[in-house]
Amino acid sequence: MKRLAGLRPVPADWYYRGVLTARSGAAGHLQLRYLGTAGFVLSDARRTVVLDPYLSRPGAMRSLAARLIPDTALIRRVIPHADEVLIGHAHHDHILDAPDLCLQTGARLIGSRSTMMVGHAAGLPDRQLRETAGNEDIACGDWSVHGLPSRHGRLMGRIPFPGDITAPPPWPPRMRHLRHGLVLNWIVRTGGLTVAHIDSADFINEQLDGHRCDVLCLCAIGRKARPHYVRDAVQRLRPRWVVPCHWDTMLTPLHAEPDQIPGVDLPGFMEEIRQAGAEPLLTPMLGDLYFPCQY
Ligand SMILES: [Zn+2]
Repeated sequence: MKRLAGLRPVPADWYYRGVLTARSGAAGHLQLRYLGTAGFVLSDARRTVVLDPYLSRPGAMRSLAARLIPDTALIRRVIPHADEVLIGHAHHDHILDAPDLCLQTGARLIGSRSTMMVGHAAGLPDRQLRETAGNEDIACGDWSVHGLPSRHGRLMGRIPFPGDITAPPPWPPRMRHLRHGLVLNWIVRTGGLTVAHIDSADFINEQLDGHRCDVLCLCAIGRKARPHYVRDAVQRLRPRWVVPCHWDTMLTPLHAEPDQIPGVDLPGFMEEIRQAGAEPLLTPMLGDLYFPCQY
């Protein structure tokens, strides 16, 4: 059935199998865990910052026809601790699980005004909400984060669920209640390495100018949605490593083998990353990368 629909898993040998550093949770290593879609957990001995967590992944029918209900137990099990949760944009596949994660961990939710409306809707108290329009450094313990105003990619010529969320939406929401709002690309400075996160299929070149990163988490859909997507991002931000994200259909359960989004062409995406001068690190769902870093 999946084959008929053009859905295919990722062959195991496409994943990065090298070792970036000795596996260790000690200070001096930054751990990056991939959560599927555009989700990541970044952590060292001092801080845990989560980006765009979306673990609940209701299937296609439930996503389209019903309210989207965060899987509280799954979120607790997979991400037991967080200090900050950053949102790139407020579509359901980037924000649905964020308020629940913040309620469970006490983490702050950081993002656009639309993101704040979602936090209010889910019952997060004001002390856990930090709105930003981007272009400012926000201290997170010894780390700091910085949003860069961006824009949402077009899918087949149009932007899905466009616009802002101007009042707290129904909660749990339906897909259509979650408009993207201001899109933010994140620069996360950990004191050692700097990680950049581009969670949609477009961005604004001028906003990236003047910023650098060591690791870039980059949406794989963008390559076919925008001219020079990979080249423009890599040449501006100068990462040593690029971790592809948003390449899975997000319709399989978190612990099942994910399917590629038809047409994404991961090998082509990774080859463009190499041609632009960076090393692609394709990471399995819930896979970990450990980066060496000095404080
Ligand atoms: Zn989106």
